[in-house]
Amino acid sequence: MSRRAVNTDASEFQSGVPQDPPAKPGGLLLDARQLAAYIVYVARTFKAFHLVVAMTLLALVLEYAATSLMIPLAPGNVAAESAVTAFWTSVAVVLGLEPVPRTWLWLFVIVLLARVAIGYVLAVLSTWLGKRVHRALSGKVFAHIVMAEPMSRVYTRTVGHYITMAGDDTFKSGTILANLMQAAVGAATATVALAVLYQFSPAWFFWVAGFLAVSLAGISLLMNRVLAINARAVDLSRELGTTFIEALNSLRSIRSLQAGSFVIQTYASQIRTYVRMLVAIDAIKSAVRTAPAIGLLLIAAILLRPGSDVEAAAGTLIAATVIVIRVFAALGQMVTAGAQVFTDIRAVKDIGALVELASREPVSSTVVPAPEVRSITLRDVWFGYGERGQVLSGIDFRFDAGRTYAIVGPSGAGKSTLADILLGLTTPDRGEVLVNDGAVDLVVARRRFALVEQQSKIFSTTLRENLLLGTQASEAVLHEALDVVSLGDLVRGLGEGLDTRLSYLGENFSGGQRQRLGIARALVRNPQVLILDEATSALDRHVRTELVSRLRERMSAGIIVFITHDPAIEDIADEILRVDPVAAHGGEPR
Ligand code: ADP
Repeated sequence: MSRRAVNTDASEFQSGVPQDPPAKPGGLLLDARQLAAYIVYVARTFKAFHLVVAMTLLALVLEYAATSLMIPLAPGNVAAESAVTAFWTSVAVVLGLEPVPRTWLWLFVIVLLARVAIGYVLAVLSTWLGKRVHRALSGKVFAHIVMAEPMSRVYTRTVGHYITMAGDDTFKSGTILANLMQAAVGAATATVALAVLYQFSPAWFFWVAGFLAVSLAGISLLMNRVLAINARAVDLSRELGTTFIEALNSLRSIRSLQAGSFVIQTYASQIRTYVRMLVAIDAIKSAVRTAPAIGLLLIAAILLRPGSDVEAAAGTLIAATVIVIRVFAALGQMVTAGAQVFTDIRAVKDIGALVELASREPVSSTVVPAPEVRSITLRDVWFGYGERGQVLSGIDFRFDAGRTYAIVGPSGAGKSTLADILLGLTTPDRGEVLVNDGAVDLVVARRRFALVEQQSKIFSTTLRENLLLGTQASEAVLHEALDVVSLGDLVRGLGEGLDTRLSYLGENFSGGQRQRLGIARALVRNPQVLILDEATSALDRHVRTELVSRLRERMSAGIIVFITHDPAIEDIADEILRVDPVAAHGGEPR
């Protein structure tokens, strides 16, 4: 038996060579294309997106209205000649107000108040929309992993990969949306404010624009640094998830081998590095946000120092300052949110793939009853695990209903791989699996197949739910299955019977009891093909003999396949399929 689960090989990150591809460096064009596909998906799926867009436009109109109220305060005759001044003067007249600086400032405060309030609602609304996108994506991604991700891929990826995909990646996809809206609003607001600034005073405009150009050059250098740290942080977050889950899964071994401090140190050092990276990223982002403002304030302090000859009418100075503050506030918003979008979109391994998954039709559960399985034929079946080498080469065999089989062979020969192929969990590289001589599709027939593994997976829920796992069966059927595996009396003796809770590590059941529970779980499904992969290895000899004969009785019309090292089971099997190891890299498919 080798890996039959998401890759839990701890040596992988000790050697520092994770199998998952590292976080992608990403090209701008790719980022833009993925973003576009993502926005189309959101626009199609969530009506609230359109409301967010409409409110964004309203916010921009208010932004222009507010800042343009500064134009009547412009120096010289710009104000007098401006159409904007004419417009606001007529508004003032309609409102019965005098067209004086005080009025413009008062109106400005009122309109800006509305703008800020709408901005707040917009921020909350886009965060809420982001959360809804997160919810939708994570549900779909989890469903995909459980139902449709090819087993061969699951086997070769770390558990951290999948935790990140269904957790962090989908979460970030949600925040990308909120940040994208914020960045867009920031960019548009800054543009509006700059345009007003130009109308107000071209000299001020060029001065500010020059300063911005220099700042942006510095910002882009810093952002490159953020992206580089971020790529490593993403890999590390996957490794953290892997360490955590693996430790939980191997708690017994860790404690019995006194390996606790090793695992704790691995986790602690990964967390230390991870947190250090997050702090570095935040520090750089804060610098990006505050540095231009500090620079500008310093210049202002120098220009306005006591004794300098800068002079300006109070109204003009206030107006210009207000516009410049709007430019910087908006640019700050754009840079912060935009940087977040870029770090997130590169952290999410493939937002395009997430969107594609989310847009797919849900996996349909067919209601057509699976037909009777009379035979399964393996015809010239070949399989290899890529570079790790060929495992099965040219297997031909036939399983007939009413008979018991044993698949035997040394450890690592490929018996479990063959079981996966029989179950349709793995597709052979070459050759085929025929049910009823090809009359029935394996995908349809396999609903009548059941596999019992050496270690039954126990869920942290009741005994009843562990037996049913979503299927329907009466109490009598459950007890009958438990009786076949000699657990009936034990369960009836428990205070809460079938409602007794189990833990996923299963410590309230022994290894042998868990194996028997696994067999009972398969029997509840009334299978026609039962594959037991070393599933009786923890049972006493007499319990095993009794269990096997009851199983044969119960499955008399079906097919039982034992994968075993047990000579006693080999003896009772009607037929034996011997799987021998293929010589290293020998026997590639012809
Ligand atoms: P058996 O059940 O006979 O012990 P398996 O079918 O589990 O053998 O494994 C057969 C061979 O394939 C072994 O050499 C094993 O290391 C390799 N193998 C099994 N699963 C994987 C996997 N997911 N990735 C790569 N190699 C694998």
